[in-house]
Amino acid sequence: MRYISTRGGVEPISFSQAVMMGLATDGGLLLPESIPAVDADTLKQWATLTFQELAVEVMWPYVGEDISREELADLIKRSYASFSHDEITPVVTIGDMHILELFHGPTAAFKDVALQFLGNLFELLLERSGGHLNILGATSGDTGSAAIYGVRGQKLIDIFILHPHQRVSPIQERQMTTVLDDNVHNIAIKGTFDDGQNIVKQLFNDLEFKQEFSLGAVNSINWARILAQVVYYFYAWGRITEGNINRRLTFSVPTGNFGDIFAGYIAMRMGLPVDQLVLATNRNDILSRFVNSGVYEAHSVHHTMSPSMDIQISSNFERYLYYLMDEDPSRVCELMEDMARDGRLEISEEKQQRVRKLFQAKAVGETETLEQIRTTYRYNKYILDPHTAVGVKAAEGIPGSVCLATAHPAKFGDAVKEAIGVEAEPPPSLQGLMDKETKCALLDADGAVIKKFMQETLADK
Ligand SMILES: *Cc1c(COP(=O)(O)O)cnc(C)c1O
Repeated sequence: MRYISTRGGVEPISFSQAVMMGLATDGGLLLPESIPAVDADTLKQWATLTFQELAVEVMWPYVGEDISREELADLIKRSYASFSHDEITPVVTIGDMHILELFHGPTAAFKDVALQFLGNLFELLLERSGGHLNILGATSGDTGSAAIYGVRGQKLIDIFILHPHQRVSPIQERQMTTVLDDNVHNIAIKGTFDDGQNIVKQLFNDLEFKQEFSLGAVNSINWARILAQVVYYFYAWGRITEGNINRRLTFSVPTGNFGDIFAGYIAMRMGLPVDQLVLATNRNDILSRFVNSGVYEAHSVHHTMSPSMDIQISSNFERYLYYLMDEDPSRVCELMEDMARDGRLEISEEKQQRVRKLFQAKAVGETETLEQIRTTYRYNKYILDPHTAVGVKAAEGIPGSVCLATAHPAKFGDAVKEAIGVEAEPPPSLQGLMDKETKCALLDADGAVIKKFMQETLADK
């Protein structure tokens, strides 16, 4: 498979080149040149496979050429060995809906499904090229720990993650700082999350430093992350329908950066019998406003009890736009120019109808989120985390729908406690965290200080 950019400015490249490139060099996002189609017989057969077997089948047509099928199977096997559930992403039924549990990985959130795979994939590609990668990122809490767990112990990768000192939850902080592997470098900065992001941007713009130290990112725009997430849509469909191809399912997806739901869109384009995709946002509703009005426009960020969806702009949205514009990069460029110039873009009435045929969108407020956690607990004795509660609420009135559960409720104990008066039992990965040894540097929120720390740390290795 070859990969191209949504903006048309990249000569077709291979899967491994696309993974190492991350963001396309023309500022766009990378996508496969075509989407492989899966027929009804194949779907039926896939419904009988284990998660790992299925992952090989789903991913293989996208990989090809530079990685063998055996290597892919081995990568997948190793990546999901860190999950605490045999089924990796099990489906449970509560009342008239299904919950696809994506939180059985080492950091108890769905990002593990993609980042466990991406970490191993990076390592394999670096072994090939003889290179070394230094990952640099800023986190407001969740992505940082999933990225750290994705690459801990890898020989060819070092990871530097900045978090705002004492402004992430104690569990989130411990999840990161209790990882003692010598390729993991936690930095608490004396500043805010925005300061952290600005420092990361500044260092990525320091082209000499970026080149010399092979800086890389692990944000949600890497194609391999989307690809790993396509798998569980097929898996859930197989478990629920047992391969009955006449059964179309509706998936409800709590979303922020449009990554997870875009994976569902790809699954549908491949031939998975999907009825609708419910796009569920919290108060940060740029995406639900887009679906319901055809206008994509950033507002300021609100802090909510589902912080992993507190975003202003959705980094994967451009990928969907590319398909909505019938794969015409010049149309995407025009729209992105509108966005850069006016802070908004708008699509035609005809395109809006197309969007609303597939997507149903709802923004869920804080009170509704708490009420949903309460109701589900009362009637089904099941504890939702606040992100998942947003998805469940948005799917109200659609019996048989499948809601993606993106975090374990014990990770967001305060919101859960506020809703139902008790906290969820933590999974093994979150137990005993407060007693473990930690490793973390405390530094000024200053790009030059962080750069010096990175240089010295790497020189000492
Ligand atoms: C990242 C995250 C989301 C949002 O996923 P996107 O791919 O950005 O849409 C939802 N819930 C949790 C718990 C997350 O960590």
